[in-house]
Order: sequence, then C-alpha cells, then structure tokens
Amino acid sequence: MEGEVISKNFIEQIIDKDLEEGTYNKVVTRFPPEPNGYLHIGHAKSILLNSGLAKEYGGKFNLRFDDTNPTKEKTEYVESILEDVKWLGADFGVDYYYASDYFDAMYESAVKLIKKGKAYVCDLTADEIREYRGTLKEPGKESPYRNRSIEENLDLFERMKNGEFEDGSKVLRAKIDMASPNINMRDPVIYRIARMTHHNTGDKWCIYPMYDFAHPIEDAVEGVTHSICTLEFEDHRPLYDWVVRELEFEYPPKQIEFAKLYLQNVITGKRYIKKLVEDGVVDGWDDPRLVTISALRRKGVTPESIRMFMELSGVSKANSTSDMAMLEYCIREDLKMKARRMMAVIDPIKLVIDNYPEDQTELLEIENNQENEELGSRKVSFSRELYIEREDFMEVPPKKYFRLFPGNEVRLKNAYFVTCTDFVKDENGNVTEVHCTYDPATKSGSGFEGRKVKGTIHWVDAGTAVDATVRLYENLISEGDEVLKEDYSNLNPNSLVEMKNCKLEAAFSDVEPGERFQFLRHGYFCIDSKDSTKEHPVFNRIVSLKSSYRPKKD
Ligand code: ATP
Ligand code: MG
Repeated sequence: MEGEVISKNFIEQIIDKDLEEGTYNKVVTRFPPEPNGYLHIGHAKSILLNSGLAKEYGGKFNLRFDDTNPTKEKTEYVESILEDVKWLGADFGVDYYYASDYFDAMYESAVKLIKKGKAYVCDLTADEIREYRGTLKEPGKESPYRNRSIEENLDLFERMKNGEFEDGSKVLRAKIDMASPNINMRDPVIYRIARMTHHNTGDKWCIYPMYDFAHPIEDAVEGVTHSICTLEFEDHRPLYDWVVRELEFEYPPKQIEFAKLYLQNVITGKRYIKKLVEDGVVDGWDDPRLVTISALRRKGVTPESIRMFMELSGVSKANSTSDMAMLEYCIREDLKMKARRMMAVIDPIKLVIDNYPEDQTELLEIENNQENEELGSRKVSFSRELYIEREDFMEVPPKKYFRLFPGNEVRLKNAYFVTCTDFVKDENGNVTEVHCTYDPATKSGSGFEGRKVKGTIHWVDAGTAVDATVRLYENLISEGDEVLKEDYSNLNPNSLVEMKNCKLEAAFSDVEPGERFQFLRHGYFCIDSKDSTKEHPVFNRIVSLKSSYRPKKD
C-alpha cells in the first residue's frame, strides 16, 4: 500500500500475499489451549497475535479448547483460560469451541482415509512401532499390518470404536512413507484405544485421535485460514499438510510457525509452573510471583501494558529471550498518566514536629498526578505527628545522604521544611521517634524561595493514617542465576517480602479494588484481590519506579 510506513511482520506478509493471490478471501485465526493448566505470558503472546491479526484483517478469532487428551484436563482450567482471554481483551465472538465437539468429524475423517487406502489398523505394540520407526539416519521398516485390505481396516477400526479391543492393543496409522527423512511422516499413529472418561464427552469414546491428526481437522472444520503455532511444530507441518490434503478440504488451512516468547531468568512453561504450584513453593496459580496471566492480573499488571510489551517484543521466526525489564517498562509507561500518586510509608517511624500546635490539623490540597491534571486533587491532612520511612533518617549519615539527620533540613513533600533536632531510641538501639521543628514560612505552594534543601521525603499524618500490608516482590530465582534448581536451593528469599505495618494516607480508606496507584518513591501498587479487606487493605507492588530498561530509539 502506498504511504505504508509501519513494517509488517512475516506473518502479515504471508497473509497479504494469500489475500492478494486469492488463496483465501478472509482471515480466520485461533488460539487452541490445552486445558491442562493456567495460561502464562507466553500464551498471552499467542492470544494477542492471533486475535490481533483477525482484527487487523477484519476476520474472525476463535478460542478453542484442545481437549483431545482427557487425562490431564480439568474444568477449572477451562474457566481460568476463559477469564484470562477475556481480560486480555481478545475478542473471540459469542462462542468458544472444544476440539472434542469434532470427535465425530475426526472419526469420519479417519474412515475416509481408510477408504482411500491411506490409513490402516496396526497391531504392533508401542515398543515395536518405535523400533520399526527407524532413526534420523536409518529409514523405518514397514509394519506387517500395513497392507491389510480396506474392508478389513474398516471393520477393525469400527470394532476399535465399539470397544472390542484392549487399550493399546491396536492403533490406526496413516499410510505415508516409512522411508521419509521426516520421522513424523513414517506412518504416524492417528488413533489410539484408551478407556478414559472425557470431561466433555464422558464415556462415549474409547478411541481418541492423536494431536497431529486432530489439530488440522479442528482448524479446517472451523474454517481457520492461518493456523499459527510455535516453532516446535515446524517438523510436523508436512503431516499437517498431508492431513488437510488427503481429506480434501476446500480451503485447507495453512500452518505458520513463530518463535515462542521466553523471558530471561523467569519461569515460564506450564509444566514448570505447575510443579511450583504442586510443590507449594508458591501460593497457587495466581501467586503474583508467577507469570501466569492470573498472577499478573492479581499483581496489578494491566492488559494494556502486556499488549505494549508484545508489540515491542515483536513476532519472529528465530528463538530469543525477552527481558522482564521491558515488561516493567511497559507497565510504568501505561500507569504513569493513569495512576494517582499518593503517599505511603512502608517501614514507618514517627516524626514529631515539636513546634507545631498540638491541636491543629491542616488540610493540604495535593494534585493527584502532576503530569495529568484530569486526575484532580485531594485533601491530605497534616499535623504534629507524622510517619516517615525508617530509612529517611540516619543518626550518622554517610556522604551524600540528604535526608533527615540531626541538624539537617529537608522538605516534607507538599508541606513544610523541617529541621531534625533530636531522636529517641529503644533499649535495643533502634530509632523509634525523630523530632524536628518546622518553618511555617516554607509551606509548599506559598512561593517561599528563601532556602534550598537537597532532600525531599514523603510522610503520612499519624492521626488519620490507614494501616495496611504491602507486599514487595522480586524474581523467584536468586539474582545471578538463570534457572531454578531442582532442590529450590537458589529460590530468592526476598521473592516475597510482606510489610505488615504500613501507614497510608487516609485517602486509601476507600479505594476501589482494581485501581492502581503510584506510592511516591516506591513504585506502582494494586489492591490484592484475594487477601485485602476493607478493615485491612493489602497492596501488591506491581513494579518499582527504578528502571534498568530503555527502549531502543528508532
Ligand atoms: P507450555 O509450552 O507452557 O507447556 P503449551 O504449548 O503446552 O505451553 P498449549 O495449551 O498447548 O500450551 O498452548 C496453546 C498455544 O499457546 C499454542 O498454540 C502454543 O504454541 C502457544 N504458546 C505456548 N507457549 C508459548 C510461548 N511461550 N510463546 C508463544 N506462544 C506460546
Ligand atoms: Mg501443549
């Protein structure tokens, strides 16, 4: 198109060509999760890619549960997947599908192959089939059952379906080429006998189709045009093509592979996440330390920032790893203008302003977000006793410490200048209280320009403070390590730090679940959807304010 400036990814280029050449006259994509666990950030990539393409080309995006293997699948997973896909904003229309809805079509397809002489019932054991298959260097050997007549195959397959044979005693195989350099093409098994109760079809079937046979049929039945999957299926594509060709679909779908999303030093992969959940290393699938979609949601990450991250990380044919810092950058970018900025003291000590009248409270008008006027302002109470962060006072300051220490003057954010005069310690030598005096002339917004101070600290009025718990998260794997050891010996002891005695501005007494905030100097936070109560709010840190990631300049 003329004037086109945005470069298209390789999948868009394929689609453009297909539409131009009339291979397809529309675009239908799908996301086919197996409901055997919760979705993670890698799946989000696939969801947003597929639904995004459908939207871009005015096509359709299907959500289909790939439930052809009954052993590991659960309704709990189906429900969580539905919630996650909706939350990401992927539009799958009014309905979603189950691969198991097509078991009849798959059975009919198998019969069709048999009738064409392209499939046969084989009595070799699983071990024998493996042995006959050959290796990358050696061709396979033909099964002695390969040349059964069509009639015999039709009869045996029907009896397989009717439950006349033991589990595993027979299989149906595609008749392709035992000498193919691609092992997937050496007469792959397409149906097996297994007496399993299916979550959707119950005990109706005792034969189940294999993935490589079922998947192309599912796609074709739904009218999918571009069946986008990850690179590990590249070697399966010839079989995919064989199935849709032999079954003579009018508009055979096309498989396209792209590279999975990997995050550096972060545990992705359903299997690995499941193990952490089962071993109790984390507190369920939505523990905010995980990168499941439900964990990211619970932590407070926005779908917008996940979308931005996927756009930045791109779609590629070559494997690479992305950096968590890039997702964190996207979260900050997304929340920068949206979030109210408020004061919260996470590790409090008292600050007493000795020369401030004891019975006085001022209400200071404070902007909610200096960069976004639309968020308005709020009134924050200020009085003689405040809370400040423990680390904002030092008895003996190191060089370049500009916060409170005896004799030093700092600015209390949005309020007055105060000068530290004294402090109190408990019997263990811990500072429990800091004393200071304030200068009434220095009120923020009063135009005072008499003195400059180098340090500004935040504070919360003690009289009206809200008590809260704040959870601070770090990566599960200790810094410097790439993978979590089998014995969990390099689990980061600080992956979750729970601060139970936090003091927040009174404005936090009635926050809505789901609202995100910036706690000044601390980062972005969100109410925990599980453990927070009206009486005692619990906040999760979504991301700190510090950034090590800078996007590349174009
Ligand atoms: P995992 O690799 O975590 O075990 P999976 O591939 O077994 O996941 P499925 O439910 O089979 O999980 O995947 C559904 C879809 O999501 C597939 O099309 C798969 O290719 C895609 N997908 C899975 N992981 C990633 C990832 N890291 N990046 C992009 N797409 C992914
Ligand atoms: Mg899988």
